[in-house]
Amino acid sequence: MKNNIFNKNIKSILCLTGAGVDAESNIKTFRGSDGTWEGHDIYNVAHPDGWKRDKDLVNSFYNERRSHLLSPSVKPNKAHYALAELDKYFEFNIVTQNISDLHKRAGSKTVIQMHGNLLSVFCENNREHIFEWKKNLSTNDFCPKCGGLLRVNVVWFSEQVLHMDKIDELIKTSDMFVSCGTSSLVAPANTIVEIFKQMNKPTVEINLERTVSSDLFDYGLYGKPATVSVVEFKNLLLDK
Ligand SMILES: [Zn+2]
Repeated sequence: MKNNIFNKNIKSILCLTGAGVDAESNIKTFRGSDGTWEGHDIYNVAHPDGWKRDKDLVNSFYNERRSHLLSPSVKPNKAHYALAELDKYFEFNIVTQNISDLHKRAGSKTVIQMHGNLLSVFCENNREHIFEWKKNLSTNDFCPKCGGLLRVNVVWFSEQVLHMDKIDELIKTSDMFVSCGTSSLVAPANTIVEIFKQMNKPTVEINLERTVSSDLFDYGLYGKPATVSVVEFKNLLLDK
């Protein structure tokens, strides 16, 4: 068994999560393979050029996603809860590509949203002017601090991911890296496993299918949905 890596003296874990963890909560995210997100070309709804062309289209797209996220049909699933439970045993830091609030709702303490947060907006005049936002957004909504136009707080193609300083610090200080439900194709996610390998620290990949990075990981759980495999991982880690 390769899972002797779970017996090392692990105190802190960096866990990267992606679309696969939210999928069973009835959330459809961007699928790179066909370039669309809920039938929209991603360059119209997830790129600054699309925003320049048609702000009403972009706002209505995220308004739909936001109201869906807040609807009773969307709840955290067993994968979110299994990860939240690990807070009891480890310094467990989640870095997520997901823009939902499902990790928070499941009770996870530290959730860093590298691609932003669907339930907040920011001001075009000042990136630090960020506000929680649970209603529809329109081009008639302006920053309460400076009057700038408000935009959904989601990182689009060609834009910088958020919180890289904090993520870099966690990469350096964590004892283990776990990638859950992401193909790890997007930078810098795809480089984290390589950095952990250089530091000779254990790495685990949990995904429905093997990924282009799978050979780099010490241990992998594949072929099962996140609600099954993340719970399996939790039990392995806790030696249950
Ligand atoms: Zn402002």
